[in-house]
Amino acid sequence: MRVIFLGPPGAGKGTQAKRIMDACAIPQLSTGDMLRSAVAAKTAVGVRAKEVMDSGALVSDDIVNQIVSDRIDMDDCKSGFILDGFPRTVPQAEALTNILREKGLDLTAVIELRVDEDALVERMRSRVAETIANGGVVRSDDNPEAFRTRLHEYREKTAPLSEYYAKTGELKTVDGMADMDAVTASIRKVLRLD
Ligand code: ADP
Repeated sequence: MRVIFLGPPGAGKGTQAKRIMDACAIPQLSTGDMLRSAVAAKTAVGVRAKEVMDSGALVSDDIVNQIVSDRIDMDDCKSGFILDGFPRTVPQAEALTNILREKGLDLTAVIELRVDEDALVERMRSRVAETIANGGVVRSDDNPEAFRTRLHEYREKTAPLSEYYAKTGELKTVDGMADMDAVTASIRKVLRLD
């Protein structure tokens, strides 16, 4: 099974992707997590990406396209994978279409989590509060200014992907405002896991 999760920052993509990953025993490929690891390890990519990520803007398409293409070639992706946070621009979606075609793979579904924008800032604030309460490290882009930029980037560059995947017939929309278990249930239904 090969699935893409689409939705704005704070929509719950990561949480839902992890649940489906556990249910299907396929990896969740989060470009955000991969880039944060590269930043932490101070690799060449990490050094280039850090400032852009901290501001809330998007890292260049060539960097993420390459990271994803290489990751899909790894053994644990043989039975499928969940893409979380990629593609995020129309050129990335086009690149992914080519990458999959070259590897002879197809997509099972593109799942879009629909949420009210007003709820997103609130969710970001509770995620920060929870992280602090649990003694964790708050993401350097989880602050109001970078979050505004992330939302702006989403509206400008990522939202058009709904139309892109509606045209290919792969788009499935799920109500991301319901409680977490109800969202998981809707996703399982779309993927015919029950
Ligand atoms: P969010 O909670 O905003 O969905 P992510 O963890 O998915 O956060 O991404 C964090 C940051 O990593 C983004 O704001 C961006 O700078 C970078 N990033 C992640 N995925 C991509 C991508 N596909 N293209 C460009 N930049 C990306």
